[in-house]
Amino acid sequence: MHPTKSAFEELVVHLRRVQTLESAADLLGWDEQVNLPELGAAQRGEQLAALAEVIHGVSSAPRTGELIAVLSGAGAEQTDDMRAVLAQARRDYERATRLPVHFVREKATQASHGYHAWAAARAAGDFGKYAPVLEKNIDLARREAAYLGRSDAPYDHFLDYNDPGMTASAVSRLFTELKRDLLPLMRSIVAAAGPAQPSPLKGLTEEAQKSFLSDVTARIGFDYRRGRIDVSLHPFCSGSGDDVRMTTRFKKDEPLDALFSAIHEAGHGIYEQGLPASRWRGTALGMHAGMAVHESQSRLWENQVARSRGFWRFFEPRLRALFPGGAAEVGSEDLYRAINAVAATPIRVESDEVTYNLHIILRFELEQRLFSGDLAVGGLPAAWRELARELLGLEISSDREGVLQDVHWSGGAFGYFPSYCLGNMIASQLWYRALSQRPALEEDFARGDFSWLLQWLRENVHAQGRRWDALTLVKRVTGEDLSPQPLVRYLRERYGSLYLG
Ligand code: ZN
Repeated sequence: MHPTKSAFEELVVHLRRVQTLESAADLLGWDEQVNLPELGAAQRGEQLAALAEVIHGVSSAPRTGELIAVLSGAGAEQTDDMRAVLAQARRDYERATRLPVHFVREKATQASHGYHAWAAARAAGDFGKYAPVLEKNIDLARREAAYLGRSDAPYDHFLDYNDPGMTASAVSRLFTELKRDLLPLMRSIVAAAGPAQPSPLKGLTEEAQKSFLSDVTARIGFDYRRGRIDVSLHPFCSGSGDDVRMTTRFKKDEPLDALFSAIHEAGHGIYEQGLPASRWRGTALGMHAGMAVHESQSRLWENQVARSRGFWRFFEPRLRALFPGGAAEVGSEDLYRAINAVAATPIRVESDEVTYNLHIILRFELEQRLFSGDLAVGGLPAAWRELARELLGLEISSDREGVLQDVHWSGGAFGYFPSYCLGNMIASQLWYRALSQRPALEEDFARGDFSWLLQWLRENVHAQGRRWDALTLVKRVTGEDLSPQPLVRYLRERYGSLYLG
């Protein structure tokens, strides 16, 4: 074999081994949230810590550095595939070798401590208990960025970590334009929709809910031979390739909650199942393109597809058949409105599509100010209230419904929130591109046929792995730069027609 080629194959084998170990840790993490006995937490913590050390050792092995150097050196013949794999391998190797072990350990310990401190502070509605944790987390974040050579722009470092290539200035430009166009639209829809209504769907057993959501997720393309669904407190999706684990949760009188959580997580799972893992697992080509693209896949199925009229033409009779006596006491139009209900709520995870993005813009603005030094941790609750008033028209009465609501910062996950909103933008842009190629998509859905859209996503997004960053991927697939306009158009078309006549 040509020396470049054999070095490359050796690197691929090595990267696959790292991913194999990481997937074992993922599985333990999944099990922790789904199955762990009450007193098993400490033992699981030890297992995960031991495994993390092994993974760190393998990821930072000097041989990897040698292979990367050989393959990057003059005279090495590189194909496009090799270039993509190498770029990600270099990124991961630098991260593994530049962060000192003592720092990684400190950060992991602090994440666990931070989670418990946050949970206690949230339960008590006491931000003062949480503030020192946040200060420490921001300090750790700055140190991490410095180790990786980004002390000039720590917040950019975290955006780039979640979404390769993303910067605060790029996000800021997109969000400013979105805010300008979305705010007036959101205000008129919220005013027209009126106060939130309780779910009209009552009396559906957990068993019936489960059977319905399994039917829905299998039909849209989640392959249950290569994945499964279980129950956890907070829905999530983990795993990859031929073993994808997703979860949902059941609320007795809100079957739409379990259903849409499951569709969302199935969207993540369908993406993971569509990555070219058999050849490229562990490398950039077998890896998702970043959190924004990941989120675009969950949102596209959850929103553009599963909140459409076509989708419900097929599934409404199936849902009704599950009710005792065969019919719920709710009309078709009321059901469709319940599925597409809009109301401003202080809690991000309970909010609808129209208001959701403003929750993200709020967090992005605060994160930027925290990292620029413009805002001290002690000023967060007041800054949060002010932005909630300005963006969502809400008076936040308790920090539990404000700054204490999200888990992310407690574990040091900064620069993560923007991915949700970027994902919504990407989903809309992909959706209109797909629709321009197949205008009859909703008629497919009305027949319960999702195969064209699935295949389109498989070819254009899933099969590409992390060959390109999110901005490049969007440009290549849609021919346009990423823009908030398709999202605004989608929200106007769906919710404007429903609420503004
Ligand atoms: Zn998601």
